[in-house]
Amino acid sequence: MKKFFALLLAVCMLTALTSCGGGKLFMATGSETGTYYAFGIAFTQVLKDKAGIEVNVQSTGASKANIQLIDAGDVDLAIVQNDVMDYAYNGTNTFADEGAITSFAAICTMYPETIQIVARPDIKSISDLAGKKVSVGDVGSGTEFNAAQIFEAYGMTFEDIQKQNLGFTDSADKFKDGQLDAFFCTAGAPTVAITELATATDFTILSIDAAELAWLQENYGYYTEFNMAAGTYANITKDVTTVAVMATLICDADLDEDTVYNITKGIYENLEPITAAHAKGAELSLEKATDGISTPMHPGAVKYFTEKGVIGG
Ligand code: GLU
Repeated sequence: MKKFFALLLAVCMLTALTSCGGGKLFMATGSETGTYYAFGIAFTQVLKDKAGIEVNVQSTGASKANIQLIDAGDVDLAIVQNDVMDYAYNGTNTFADEGAITSFAAICTMYPETIQIVARPDIKSISDLAGKKVSVGDVGSGTEFNAAQIFEAYGMTFEDIQKQNLGFTDSADKFKDGQLDAFFCTAGAPTVAITELATATDFTILSIDAAELAWLQENYGYYTEFNMAAGTYANITKDVTTVAVMATLICDADLDEDTVYNITKGIYENLEPITAAHAKGAELSLEKATDGISTPMHPGAVKYFTEKGVIGG
């Protein structure tokens, strides 16, 4: 009898650990002053309150690092750029050396991430960044991919600048202290790091010129033209023409179907409280839920979107 109860207890514990509601999930985001982190905290709080799903949000180096964290089994969920997902899945771009990573699956598209090039007010164009101290994003960030491609559009490489690899918080701090001339920030705007910087020092945000923007779109299909409105930051008084990619929620492809179904449902059935918790929630919609996703979707998400008529037919 004792043996029977011991076995029953062991089975119960195992079920609790592996079942949907049982274990806490871990989600990789980005820098603490980026948008992944703030939005991640906001929407997972709603998931907890409304659907009883507990997610522990972690600050990381962002997109590429997040895909590697999923692959290593260190996290269950992550927010990443849709362009970086594609490079990872197909083993192209900077994934060419280490090879493809296919252990993740997509859940949904979240919001556009604006490529923001913050520069000293006397710097007038991207070509003027030659020879300057420029942070191109953290090691393992998607920001770094975007910086490299934008320089390529201008016939430049990282060799032409004094490159630094810093996350958004460090980039803004160094910029404020005069140790950086510019930094790249691919994130949903307004981004906390830049909003805070605007209270401390003046800067400009560089536009991408028409010919270079067309070249970028022709050569790297993920960029959409993006008009960042004047007033996004207190000191930016003119619209900025730039490009955007999409922030996408992904998960470990092995995460069970019910868990991912419940997360997907928990998000799309609570868009109002998510928007109340963070402005980027307003960008989420069922109609756009799978836009820009070129890698396989998780069956749990497919099940929910099929029920809602978003995919399939
Ligand atoms: N898109 C950025 C990256 O992967 C991170 C954005 C954020 O932290 O909000 O480099």
